[in-house]
Amino acid sequence: MAPPTSPLHGVDPATEQIATQIFDYVLQRIRMSPPPLDGPRPAAELRAATGPMITDEGLGYERAFGLFRDVLAPACISSDHPRYLAFVPTAPAEAATLFDLVVSASSIYGDWWLEGAGAIYAENETLRWLASLAGFPDTAGGVFVSGGTAGNLAALTTARETWRREHGRDRPIAIAAAPSAHSSIRLAAMVIDVPIVTVAPDPRGRLTGTALRATIEAAHADGLDVMAIVATAGATNTGIVDDLAGAAEAATEYGAWLHVDGAYGCAALASTIGRPLFRGIEAADSFVLDPHKWLFAPFDCCALVYRDPGLAGAALTQHAEYLETLDATAEWNPSDFAIHMTRRVRGLPLWFSVTAHGARAYDVAVSRGIELAQLAARAIEASDHLELVMEPELSVVLFRRRGWDAERCQAWSDEALADGLALVVPTVHDGETMFRLCFVNPTTTSSDIDAVLAAMR
Ligand SMILES: *Cc1c(COP(=O)(O)O)cnc(C)c1O
Repeated sequence: MAPPTSPLHGVDPATEQIATQIFDYVLQRIRMSPPPLDGPRPAAELRAATGPMITDEGLGYERAFGLFRDVLAPACISSDHPRYLAFVPTAPAEAATLFDLVVSASSIYGDWWLEGAGAIYAENETLRWLASLAGFPDTAGGVFVSGGTAGNLAALTTARETWRREHGRDRPIAIAAAPSAHSSIRLAAMVIDVPIVTVAPDPRGRLTGTALRATIEAAHADGLDVMAIVATAGATNTGIVDDLAGAAEAATEYGAWLHVDGAYGCAALASTIGRPLFRGIEAADSFVLDPHKWLFAPFDCCALVYRDPGLAGAALTQHAEYLETLDATAEWNPSDFAIHMTRRVRGLPLWFSVTAHGARAYDVAVSRGIELAQLAARAIEASDHLELVMEPELSVVLFRRRGWDAERCQAWSDEALADGLALVVPTVHDGETMFRLCFVNPTTTSSDIDAVLAAMR
C-alpha cells in the first residue's frame, strides 16, 4: 500500500472512532426533547475555557470534539427548543437534519447541471411544489439561497435590471414598501442604490392597494417611477400579511414588479388554514420563503421563486471564459438565478423530508403553529396580568405585561433565559415595548405556553 500523501485524508481507525462518536452525538441530539436551551458567554470566558485551539500539531479528534460538546455547543442557544419563542425559531424535521449529513458527505456542487443534475432536479421539484402552493405557473422556478436577505436582494436586482431593459436608465426609480417591510429590504435597496418610498399602512400595519396607488402617484409627481413593490407575507414583528391582491392589481396597473417577502410567513401556504391569507400571491413576480424558519429544514435555506426565471437569468448570470463550456450542457444552472456561485444543495434536506413524509404532514405541522398562536392569544385574554395587542393572523402573538416598562420586560427576559425557562424577548411595536411570541415549532405544547405566561406574573 502506498504511504498516505495527505495527513488530512483517508479513513484510519481513529477516523472510524470519531465517526461513531459523531453519529452517536447526532442521534442523541435529535433525540433530546427538549434540548438544553443554553445561552451565550463572553469571548474571554470561552477563551479561558478552551485554551489555544489551533496549534501546529493539532489537538486530535478527541479533544477537538470535546471542545465543541462541552464548551462551544453549550454557549449556543438551541433554536429548536420548544420554549424558544423569540425572533423566528427553527424546528427542523429529524429527517431533514439527518439528510443534511448526507449532503455534507456527498460533495455535490450545486451550481451547474453538469455537476449536480440529480440534486438540482430534486431541488427544482421541491421549488415546484412551493411555487404551485402559491399558484405560480409550471414555468416558474428559482433556486435555494442562504436566506431571505440573499433572496430579497436577488429578486430586487432582477426587478431593477428588468425595468432598465424595458424603460432605460433615464428616469429615477424607487421601490414601494410599507414600514413593516423587513430590514433586509432596506439593505437590498441600499445595495442596488434604489430609494424606498414608504406606503402608509392601514390600522393593522398592512400595505394595501389603495395606499400603494397614492404612493405611486405621489412618487410619479416627484419624478420617480416605482419599479418594484415589496409586499410582506407576513411581517416578522406582527405576523400580519399585506393585501397581496391589492398590491398585485396596483403592480399590474403601473407595470411594477411585485415581490412578496414571505421569508417567515409564506410557509403557511402549505397549511390549509393559512393558505387563504395569501390570496393575490399568484400574481406576484417573485417570492421568498425560508424553509429554515417554518418549513422544518435546517439552517440555512431560502426558496427564491420567480414567475419568469428567464428574467433572473438575464439579470444575474455570470459570464466568464472558464464557464463557457457549462452553458452548452445546461438544463438549469442554479447559479444563474441569484447573487452567488458555489452553492451547497441546501434544498435537499427539505426535499428528503417532504418526499418521505408527504405534503399532508407539512400541512398538519405548519398549521400547528397557527393553532399555538391562537391558544396563546386565548390564554393571554383570559389572564389579568397580560393584554393582547392584536388578534394573531399567522403565528405571532403581540401582548403587553400590564405595569411593566421596557427595562422590566428586558430584565424578565434575561432571567427567563438564565433560568433555562424560555427565550422570549421584548419587541417594539408602534413605539411601545411589549412581548412577542413566534410559534413555528410543532413540539411546543400548551403547557409550554402556560409556563411562560405564568412566569410573567
Ligand atoms: C427572516 C426574514 C428575512 C430575512 O431572512 P434571513 O433568512 O434571515 O436572511 C426577510 N424577510 C422577512 C419577512 C423575514 O421574516
